[in-house]
Amino acid sequence: MSQNPRVRFAPSPTGPLHIGGVRTALYNYLFAKKNNGTFILRIEDTDQQRYVERTEEYIIDSLNWCGIPFDEGPGKEGDFGPYRQSERKDKYFAFAKQLIDSGDAYYAFDSEEALDKERKEHEAQGKTFIYNWHNRNKLDNSLNLTAEEVQKRLDGGEEHVIRFKSPADETLYLDDIIRGDMEVQTSVLDDKVLFKGDGMPTYHLANIVDDHLMEITHVIRGEEWLPSLALHKLLYRAFGWDAPQFAHLPLIMKPVGKGKLSKRDGEKMGFPVFPLEWKDPKSDTRSSGYREDGYLPEAVINMLAFLGWNPGIEKEIYSLEELIADFELNTVHKSGAKFDPDKTKWFQQQHLQLADESVLVAGFKEILEEKGIESSAEYVAKVVHLLKERAVFISDLWESGWYFFERPTSYDEKAVKKIWKEDTGEIMSKICEIIYKTEPFNAEALSAAVKEWIQGSGLGFGKVMQPFRLSLVGAMQGPDVFEIAASIGKEKTLERIRFAIESL
Ligand code: GLU
Repeated sequence: MSQNPRVRFAPSPTGPLHIGGVRTALYNYLFAKKNNGTFILRIEDTDQQRYVERTEEYIIDSLNWCGIPFDEGPGKEGDFGPYRQSERKDKYFAFAKQLIDSGDAYYAFDSEEALDKERKEHEAQGKTFIYNWHNRNKLDNSLNLTAEEVQKRLDGGEEHVIRFKSPADETLYLDDIIRGDMEVQTSVLDDKVLFKGDGMPTYHLANIVDDHLMEITHVIRGEEWLPSLALHKLLYRAFGWDAPQFAHLPLIMKPVGKGKLSKRDGEKMGFPVFPLEWKDPKSDTRSSGYREDGYLPEAVINMLAFLGWNPGIEKEIYSLEELIADFELNTVHKSGAKFDPDKTKWFQQQHLQLADESVLVAGFKEILEEKGIESSAEYVAKVVHLLKERAVFISDLWESGWYFFERPTSYDEKAVKKIWKEDTGEIMSKICEIIYKTEPFNAEALSAAVKEWIQGSGLGFGKVMQPFRLSLVGAMQGPDVFEIAASIGKEKTLERIRFAIESL
């Protein structure tokens, strides 16, 4: 790459960031980091009506939680700020005016009612009304008025917008890093509004102007913006600017059936579609998030990276650093990527195994504290080590290992029936004697002593080991019994066996 790339993630703060948006941010981030580039966050908040409070904060928190922070953006001013379009308001009109002066745009005075009437008349004839070369010569705009008339109307404060003048009949050759070459006939394009009556630019104008002013080299965004590509290229040409390169990412599709992944799919099938929990400020409803549901950011990032891309080799488990090294924009897929909640859990399970145990210890300690259980980090670390192999989430550690912290107060009935026989109490009393004598009290020593006694006694292994487990755990689950006994300690092991003998 001749120039260090500058890429931007440019969300509109109209609600929380969907995981599709996080994936767009991630691909921008990976591309930037791989090529020594800069990752920019730009808040596209020109549409005041759709503005939802606290979403900018949500977006920033989400990127930070995922470990993909931006280099320039709100609160991290670089040389190209401000990074909120609402704070750049005064920049845009001059650019719209420039296009008017060059004949690439025009003032349109048509009222909403007049346009509605056109739409209805077209509909009645089975046609669709498009404001472009077909009819712009018959509508109420500066193309059909003298310069004096236009000035008079503007001076008189008449409501108007500024529209782009699309070429009537031209074949545009477009290219996209992911999709390759495309052709578009300009005859089907409409003359999009660039500047609105409320004095604000539309998305199209502000987006192109800012990408130019911020020296963006690559625009990496969702497929839903592909239909705007022709207009955007035409705008660059009209301004006489070099256009950045474009890459339109594939859509994220529903797990089953057709169509784009929606919030509803998540609700129906019980998985989050947002990185963080979102409390809607208006309706006070909550939507679940990956963070609060116990996912590790590494797992979410890995899963998202693979929604639309893979390295072309068997390897699936990637750290962020490895993704940066292997990610290539030109091998991103064209077709939609099916979201798979089970695969997401699988990524989580894999990353939980890889995670630094101190992260699991801290998370598990929090869960214990919520339950009023005080335990040393050292002890919790020991338990984590014994249990993590079977866990998907940190919370699973409690479900599968609560007995490391509390004595069982009841026993699995089925297991009791099957295991606890008439002579079991007696056998367990013997085991208590051995436990009492075992020194040092660790899993190895205990295992050796108990096994030796079993062999000498002529009893079956299960006849001893199963009630031993039942006494300590209350059920037939968990890791190695000797490890459990060694962890909870001699005193508690004896206490639990004695309690089982008394109550069973
Ligand atoms: N503001 C647009 C959005 O909300 C940005 C599209 C683009 O990246 O050009 O997605």
